[in-house]
Amino acid sequence: MTEAPAVGTTPTGAPLERRRRDLDALANEPFDVLIVGGGIVGCGALLDATSRGLRAALVEREDIAVGTSSRSSRLIHGGLRYLEQLRFGLVREALAERARILRLAPHLVRLEPLLFPLIGRPITTRAFYEAGMTLYDILGARRDGGWHRHLSVAETLERSPAIRTEKLRGGLVFHDAVEDDARYALAVARTAREAGAVVVTRAQADGLMEEDGRVVGARIRDVANGGTSALEVRSRAVVDATGVWAADPTAPLSGGSTRILPSRGAHLVVRRDRIPSTVGMTIRVPGKVVFLVPWPGHWLIGTTDAPYDGPVDRPTAGADEIDELLAAVNRVLDVGLGRDDIVGTYAGLRPLIAPSGGSTVTASREHRVVRESNGLVRVGGGKYTTYRVMARDTVDVALVGLGDASPSASRPSRTANLRLIGAADRPELDRLAVDLAARHGLAGSAARSLVDRHGTTAAEVAALGAASDQLRPLAPDHDHLEVEVAWAARHELAMSLDDILARRMRLVHELKDRAAAIAPRVGQLLGAELDWDADRRRREVDHFLAGARREFGVPGIVAGHGPVSD
Ligand SMILES: Cc1cc2nc3c(=O)[nH]c(=O)nc-3n(C[C@H](O)[C@H](O)[C@H](O)COP(=O)(O)OP(=O)(O)OC[C@H]3O[C@@H](n4cnc5c(N)ncnc54)[C@H](O)[C@@H]3O)c2cc1C
Repeated sequence: MTEAPAVGTTPTGAPLERRRRDLDALANEPFDVLIVGGGIVGCGALLDATSRGLRAALVEREDIAVGTSSRSSRLIHGGLRYLEQLRFGLVREALAERARILRLAPHLVRLEPLLFPLIGRPITTRAFYEAGMTLYDILGARRDGGWHRHLSVAETLERSPAIRTEKLRGGLVFHDAVEDDARYALAVARTAREAGAVVVTRAQADGLMEEDGRVVGARIRDVANGGTSALEVRSRAVVDATGVWAADPTAPLSGGSTRILPSRGAHLVVRRDRIPSTVGMTIRVPGKVVFLVPWPGHWLIGTTDAPYDGPVDRPTAGADEIDELLAAVNRVLDVGLGRDDIVGTYAGLRPLIAPSGGSTVTASREHRVVRESNGLVRVGGGKYTTYRVMARDTVDVALVGLGDASPSASRPSRTANLRLIGAADRPELDRLAVDLAARHGLAGSAARSLVDRHGTTAAEVAALGAASDQLRPLAPDHDHLEVEVAWAARHELAMSLDDILARRMRLVHELKDRAAAIAPRVGQLLGAELDWDADRRRREVDHFLAGARREFGVPGIVAGHGPVSD
């Protein structure tokens, strides 16, 4: 393919310069809190610590949200199924957080109506689920979406005409929130950075520094560009927020008193027009609950929940999980969904706290924060929705370890009302989208989706795009703009095609060719920011494609070539 010129892009190298400065700060400044792990929990702890006026830093071995925090069902929810486990406290807390998160980041999180079809014996089915849904409302769900509604069979089919009618008794409509999990974690990290925190990706913690049996910092390895340079970071408190990596006995910070039990979950990405429904859905089949989460142009269908003891880096969806999800959908919906319909897949590992029994379905979604005898603070378990509470509890425990007997009184967390970068109320975001479309000649949908990803900072992204002549879409039928590549490198810590196509944009799941057609152009735009020569660009593109096909494809189907025989 002949490459289009990187029109108007001045090779800047600025992101590399900024990273060098951040590494210098890590090596030379003493910190109050050093957080290891850039998932939502680590990013949340970073923002929490910074909001209390602490000097805080975060190191992440690869990219922000590369682990579980970009592989969720993308729901901010109370979790209806935890009601059946009688975990009312967890549901109430998660629903209170849902309300807060909707205020803190209206650009990244939106409330969606979800349909729960009632299938089964006439009276008992309806009474059981009505009672559960009423309890969900009472525990807090009614605050944002109002009380749930009962629908007749006809009203249910009006919304989702493909539901099988045998034993259909109607439906319940309720609300939960949908988010972009990777971008949300990034926004939390960026908000902390704007307030003075240091964040360095491709910086792996290799071990702890101890003096007199007390942790005084961590040894960090700069792993960018295959590098091996090491540095020592001194910090009064160190937090292990490494999620499922803590389950690996060979991990650098392993050996904690809490046992983490990884539970694997997979998702399918399917084009929206393949399943006719105006609302998302929660369907129940024996032994499992499956979500059909509405996503722009697509459905996310998941999830499975099974114990896992393989490698924790970059898990992939297995053929058995894919078939299990297809079977669940086809059992409730008359859509004949098959492997050919799957645009992409992804899998993730829940960092659950091990129960004495050992099942991952019953393992607690509650979190635990412990201070080890050497002072290291570990946080584990929980769910995305409750990250802010986990972060607050983590920093409280760290401060107690530093001798503050009652941090919630002396240095309280300030994140409950701290809006994330780019946040504004919906009407303001809507006006911005109209304004950007008019000012820059963008299609309405492109301007809206730019604002959905960047919030109020979309104005700066568009201005950069206008100045560099990069307001063109990156891919046909998708709204992402070329300028978002340079923006991601300069402001969002992106250092590879995978950072951009899998997490800053979610295109690697949504393009059946795993973004092969646009990867060279992304490599060119990113290379201009990171000083890559032509050879390096080609290697980065090849490396990205090999990984993307392995990680996000459909087993048995080669990207863009249809089924293969195994
Ligand atoms: C399939 C699935 C669906 C889910 N759906 C939902 C949902 O809809 N709603 C919800 O609320 N929750 C959901 N969850 C749960 C939620 O996604 C997780 O609880 C949350 O993302 C965990 O975040 P974390 O920060 O603890 O871990 P992670 O996101 O995995 O972060 C840990 C980070 O530590 C880094 N790291 C590891 N070792 C080192 C080291 N030595 N040095 C530096 N960095 C290191 C890793 O690279 C990683 O980025 C789901 C989970 C799964 C698996």
